[in-house]
Amino acid sequence: MLSVPRREVTVSIPLRRDDGSHEVLIGHRVQHNFSRGPAKGGLRYSPDVTLDEVRALAMWMTWKCALLDVPYGGAKGGVRIDPRIHSQAELERVTRRYTSEISPFIGPERDIPAPDIGTDERTMAWMMDTYSVQQGHTVLGVTTGKPIALGGSLGRATATSRGVAHIAFSALADRGIAVAGSTAVVQGFGKVGRYAARFLAEAGMRVVAVSDQYGAVADEKGLDIVSLEAHVDATGSVVGFLGSDELDGVAMLELDVDLLVPAAVEGVLNATNAPRVKARVIVEGANGPTTPEADEIFRSNGILVAPDILANAGGVVVSYFEWVQANQAFWWSAEEVEARLATRMDLAWRAVTEHARRLGVPLRAAATALAVERVAQAHLLRGLYP
Ligand code: GLU
Repeated sequence: MLSVPRREVTVSIPLRRDDGSHEVLIGHRVQHNFSRGPAKGGLRYSPDVTLDEVRALAMWMTWKCALLDVPYGGAKGGVRIDPRIHSQAELERVTRRYTSEISPFIGPERDIPAPDIGTDERTMAWMMDTYSVQQGHTVLGVTTGKPIALGGSLGRATATSRGVAHIAFSALADRGIAVAGSTAVVQGFGKVGRYAARFLAEAGMRVVAVSDQYGAVADEKGLDIVSLEAHVDATGSVVGFLGSDELDGVAMLELDVDLLVPAAVEGVLNATNAPRVKARVIVEGANGPTTPEADEIFRSNGILVAPDILANAGGVVVSYFEWVQANQAFWWSAEEVEARLATRMDLAWRAVTEHARRLGVPLRAAATALAVERVAQAHLLRGLYP
């Protein structure tokens, strides 16, 4: 039962463009599992979205939530659209129509969307509003990753990156590498990579290269991440950052560094480039950045891989905190959110590394085994009905 999603919804989304023309987009919401609670997972806007990709991402959410012991199943949504070539007004219409189409299947007790690639807190505000208008009252708990002014949680925007940094520090320590002075490469400078780079640099690491979808920049002495963030805010890309060298975003993954953080899309570490990857530790900020073939190569080359369902779970952990706060209408301080997040990430790191030692398997297999066991246990306890 765990190998197939419980429910898949595909909707068409007619869009009136700003110039008066029309197009019809395709959207999906896949709910992989509900055994431990409502389904949970992000909504992705990308021209590459396919139903099969959304299925995989939904299943990853089930394992991620179980591993971090948040009381959710797993889900994912996707709309096949390039958000870069659409206006805010068009994105709002798409979001509202998509939400309206899937609204019978979502809700604080059913399925709770959150941001993912191509979506942000604005998207979550529109979704929450559309759902609330249909219900006739404000339902803050229907989405997470909302703006702070509208039922969002302090610390949610940086939570995935905080979790990535947390796991990176534990993984480096596991390999006997001191954090201060060690080197890192971060692929992706969006919701995850940007703050991950910031937290790594704040801890004294030299972030020697970062990339986004437009290109990569490098500085052997370590990039000044604060200035780079200002450059990205002003220009929309890392490319052209003063004092940096430009390099190829794919070649960047092969730099000789202590830590590699892929924080963009799936499949970037694959059979082709894995043999040339020289990082000592890989911490997966993205979902599914490593193909199974690359994973095997990393294992035989002695590279420690902290898997996505552990490494990037900080986002959904604070999504859970946001939902708890919204449902209680009682808000926590940033310190409280961050302390609770740190505790959960530490617990999960310890559980996964101990399980890996016990079974004699890599961290990904250990994390997956732990998560599947928890979901299977919940499923067996509930039983099959009717
Ligand atoms: N999209 C994020 C992820 O892949 C967050 C999901 C959530 O907070 O529900 O983990």
